[in-house]
Amino acid sequence: MIRRTFLSLAVCLIAGTSLLAQEGDKKLIVCSTTQIADFARQVVGDRCEVQCVLAPGQDPHLYRTTANDARLVAKADLCLQNGWHLEGNEWMETLAKDAGKPLVTCIDGVQPIMLEVEGGEVPVKDPHAWFSPKNAGVYVKNILNAVVQIEPDHKAEFTARAELYLEQLRTLHLWSSRQISNVPPEQRILVTSHDAFNYFCQAYGFESAAPEGWSTGAELGAGVTASSRRETVESIRKHGVKAIFVETSVNKKMIREIASEAGVVVGGELYSDSMGEAGSAGETYVGMMRENVLTIVGSLR
Ligand SMILES: [Zn+2]
Repeated sequence: MIRRTFLSLAVCLIAGTSLLAQEGDKKLIVCSTTQIADFARQVVGDRCEVQCVLAPGQDPHLYRTTANDARLVAKADLCLQNGWHLEGNEWMETLAKDAGKPLVTCIDGVQPIMLEVEGGEVPVKDPHAWFSPKNAGVYVKNILNAVVQIEPDHKAEFTARAELYLEQLRTLHLWSSRQISNVPPEQRILVTSHDAFNYFCQAYGFESAAPEGWSTGAELGAGVTASSRRETVESIRKHGVKAIFVETSVNKKMIREIASEAGVVVGGELYSDSMGEAGSAGETYVGMMRENVLTIVGSLR
C-alpha cells in the first residue's frame, strides 16, 4: 500500500516535471497592439505564448515604454508590430532593436491609403489598415510566415489555423457589407475624433471626417487645430450627419463638445486603435469589428 502511494507520487512528480518543461519550452511572441496579439493567437493557438505590450484601451500613438516592456521583449523569440508609425516614435522598433530581437512589421503588403498632411511635403501612409478585414488577412499571412520561422515543425498546424481564421475574416466582411447596406449612402459619413477609419470607410462606402488628423500624437499634420475643428462642425451640419462617435482609446471630451456645437448626438463608442477589455464584446478583432458595425448602423440607418 505504502509502496504504491510512493510510486504514484513519483509518477506525478515526473509528469509535473515534463509539463513544466513543456511550458518553459514555449516560444514567446511579443506584440505591440491588441489587434496584432489577437491575430497571433489565432495562428499559434496555445503552441506559443503571446504577450502584448499595450493593454486594452491604451493609445499606440502616445505610448511610452516602461522597464517592464524592455524585460518582456528581452525574453521574446519574435516581436510583431503594426508599423507605418502607428507606434509613435517607433517604440516597438526601439524595444526590439535594444534587445536584439527579430521584428516583423505586419502591415507590409497592404495597399496604403495615402494621407495629405498639413505642413508636410509628402503624404504619409495611413497605419490603421486593420479596419478592413481584407487587410487583416494580410497581417495574418505575415504573422503565419513569421511564426513558421521560429517553429518550423508546426507549420501545418499554424497554416490550418490561419486558413480557418481567414475564412472568418471573409465572413466578417460579407456580414459587415450586408449590415451596412441598411445605412442610406447619403448617411455614410463617419465622424470620429482621430482619423483611424479610412480603411473601414473605403471598404464600406463611407466618407470620414476627424478633427484630430491621422494620429493623436504630435506627428506631422496631426493634432486638433481651430480650423480642423471648425471644418468638422461645418461638414456635420452641411451633410446632415445624424450621429458622431467617440473612440475607446482616445479622449472623449472633444467629440462631445463638437456634437453639442453641431447639434448632433454621440452615436456611441467605437473600438479604434485598441480592442476591448478581456470579457467584453470587443475583446477580439472579430468582436470589435462586429460591435463597431452594429453601433454605426444603429445610429446612422
Ligand atoms: Zn490611431
